[in-house]
Amino acid sequence: MNKKILVTGGAGFIGSAVVRHIIKNTNHIVINADKLTYAGNLESLSSIQNDQRYTFEQVDICNSVNISKIFKTHQPDFVLHLAAESHVDRSIDGPAKFIQTNIIGTYVLLEASRDYWMNLDGDKKKRFIFHHVSTDEVYGDLEPQDDPFTEETSYSPSSPYSATKASSDHLVRAWHRTFKLPVLITNCSNNYGPYQFPEKLIPLIILNALEGKKLPIYGNGKQVRDWLYVNDHAKALLHVMFNGKIGETYNIGGHNELENIEVVKTVCSILDNLVPSKFEGINKYDQLISHEDDRPGHDLRYSIDATKMKNTLNWIPEETFITGINKTVKWYLENKAWCDRVKNGNYQGERLGKIKIENV
Ligand code: NAD
Repeated sequence: MNKKILVTGGAGFIGSAVVRHIIKNTNHIVINADKLTYAGNLESLSSIQNDQRYTFEQVDICNSVNISKIFKTHQPDFVLHLAAESHVDRSIDGPAKFIQTNIIGTYVLLEASRDYWMNLDGDKKKRFIFHHVSTDEVYGDLEPQDDPFTEETSYSPSSPYSATKASSDHLVRAWHRTFKLPVLITNCSNNYGPYQFPEKLIPLIILNALEGKKLPIYGNGKQVRDWLYVNDHAKALLHVMFNGKIGETYNIGGHNELENIEVVKTVCSILDNLVPSKFEGINKYDQLISHEDDRPGHDLRYSIDATKMKNTLNWIPEETFITGINKTVKWYLENKAWCDRVKNGNYQGERLGKIKIENV
């Protein structure tokens, strides 16, 4: 039977992939609640915006009156909570918005969900779920020889971003434990793919390379991340929402642990093949790589153990890094107009968060 899914942050990178996936591949109904910050872009939803099963509500998740109205009007079966301030560098430049949206906003949503859920009856009450979307960054970082993060790894966040996500995870668990709100939490590794805001590593590298600009890498580029193709994440989220066990946490990973420098060099070599450089003195795009001062508090390595997803929910990602990154680079080449319009805001391809360590 078709369900009503209230997606928060559905105009963002991952949220829009989730909304497109639901509308294109299922019969479910989506209510997209998004404030449209610099990171939200309705153009990412143009392929589904006229579908009768899709509704957009422009709302700040910190506004409890408006959020309660959305519950009352739309009567959702599920909440899939993605709205957040999501960029680590921005959290270094200005943590206040992160505390507001990621912590207070999640609290407001939890309270609105609890109030709504307590007044539901029968099957609708029994099946309601609040699914909170979080990150592997809550676990802190690892030494090269350490085992990957499991769902039991203690939290040890390093940046204002990951600290606010960790706080929101704790709130969600507390609302389950204390108020019995039916919740699910997923912690996912780095996503990449179409429609990602060009401040994040992969789109930044693609777009700078195409303009012959330097490719800024923090420090030596040896930081290790696990990479998951965004459409795999979107499918995983729905799979967990429909099949996960209430109160449980699931780590979602791409089984693709790579150093940032390897990611950048892979993007460069795909571009070398597809659009050879026309820039003077640049035969290969990796000649544009420029090592910048490292980010303060930069985590060395994240690694995610996604065994629970595989063993209990029979889920593994469909894309390898090579298939996913090829699709991603091609998408950016074919969608330059989207990128130009997104970049016409006040973000112009610089790296943020370059404060000096002594100021931290
Ligand atoms: P994003 O920054 O691209 O999108 C965030 C969306 O939330 C935007 O559409 C924005 O307008 C909206 N938003 C922000 N503040 C809001 C508010 N106060 N009220 C309503 N809407 C608001 O982020 P993303 O990369 O798509 O990440 C989505 C979620 O997934 C986040 O919770 C993030 O922590 C988590 N996550 C992201 C990654 C990743 O690699 N991008 C990995 C793991 C987990």
